[in-house]
Amino acid sequence: MYWEKAIETMSREELKKLQEERLRQTILRAAKTPFYRKRFAQLKLDPEKLRTVKDLQYIPFTTKEDLRQGFPFDFLAVPLEEVVRLHSSSGTTGTPTVIYHTAQDLERWANQVARCLYMVGMRKTDIFQNMMSYGLFTGGLGMHYGAEKLGAMTIPIGAGNSKRQIWFLQFFKTTAVHILPSYALLLAQLIKSEGLDPKKDLNLRIMLIGAEPHSEETRRRIEELYGAKAYNSYGLSEMNGPGVAFECPYQNGMHLWEDYYIMEVVNPETGEPCQEGEVGELVLTTIYRDATPILRYRTRDLTAFIDEPCPCGRLHRRITRIQGRSDDMFIFRGVNIFPIQIEKVLMNIPEVGNNYRIILEREDYRDVMRIEVEIKSELFFGDLQKLERLRERIQAELRSEILATPEVVLVEPGTLPTQEGKAQRVFDQRKM
Ligand code: ADP
Ligand code: ZN
Repeated sequence: MYWEKAIETMSREELKKLQEERLRQTILRAAKTPFYRKRFAQLKLDPEKLRTVKDLQYIPFTTKEDLRQGFPFDFLAVPLEEVVRLHSSSGTTGTPTVIYHTAQDLERWANQVARCLYMVGMRKTDIFQNMMSYGLFTGGLGMHYGAEKLGAMTIPIGAGNSKRQIWFLQFFKTTAVHILPSYALLLAQLIKSEGLDPKKDLNLRIMLIGAEPHSEETRRRIEELYGAKAYNSYGLSEMNGPGVAFECPYQNGMHLWEDYYIMEVVNPETGEPCQEGEVGELVLTTIYRDATPILRYRTRDLTAFIDEPCPCGRLHRRITRIQGRSDDMFIFRGVNIFPIQIEKVLMNIPEVGNNYRIILEREDYRDVMRIEVEIKSELFFGDLQKLERLRERIQAELRSEILATPEVVLVEPGTLPTQEGKAQRVFDQRKM
């Protein structure tokens, strides 16, 4: 049941001991990098004296901006010749940042991913198709080496080219995939348009979905479409990539591997720690990585931690589904809205198809939100009154969730633009 039983089920006290040991080494290592050397000196902090998880609070947060400014080498803690690979964030928001890995870092990361895959029931007998893009993006190679370490036959197909994806899924009877949730929804549509049923004509049993925010409703829809289990997978390139936190078979929050990271959840405005269950920004410290140690990294991802032990027996604490990035939120007529709130409502309405987008405009000094929603094709041949009633229902359900009234436009499946890579849902065309 466990990939590494001793570590996964370690008691909280033992885990804390292990964390502090690793933290001390990490801080000493970090003190060798130009960035932290300067920072410790400015604050007159003696790295030798920072010894406990509690002492971490004396160290200021590290931000994405710090990583950018430290480009290319200010966070590097080993001689460059020890580095065997670099990865870079996919740059969804601005200039990329770069993370270096030693051979041992990569080995540990592969193990971390294998642990996640084993946890959700993947075994060496699985046929694994990795539909994430290979290259600088960590979702490709990161998951790839984890799956190989587990021993599954791994198909490094990469992202896109749906026809080829479908051919491989069928021909090799793929049992497990790593896929963007937005792409899983689109692909199901394409599979159907080839006259196949993703549930009956494929052999999928496990889907690892992540790299972008998605709601519980989307997960259920994906599971329903493919007749497989879909597990939420969280990671970011600054903290390696996939494998940081992962759902277990109970699908109730993601275990964050605390032998690899020290986790904090803080109020994004004040930086003060949040209580269990309170949503805040996830802050992570690497404690099991040599080339690029990062202390108290502000991920900008919003979540809450769950302290309560999980029935699966793993004592690494869980985080709730990521609600979005603090910078994803948009303000519409004074109301704060996260795209995932809209997604949740849409994916719960059976007539709604698998794609949508949110357009924000300003007309006559007034904000307008237009939500274009694909609906199932058969509905387009039905009567107009029915369509209008559906449109009104969608609008009313959205209104009660987001407390604002969007315009809703129903469109035929396949008509909204799609992207290769993470889905862009919000198009803010308001001129400030
Ligand atoms: P970029 O920051 O350019 O998108 P990354 O590939 O490092 O580059 O993306 C990591 C980010 O993707 C995370 O910080 C988070 O916002 C998002 N993400 C990753 N996995 C999930 C997930 N399971 N749920 C929600 N968001 C996720
Ligand atoms: Zn669990």
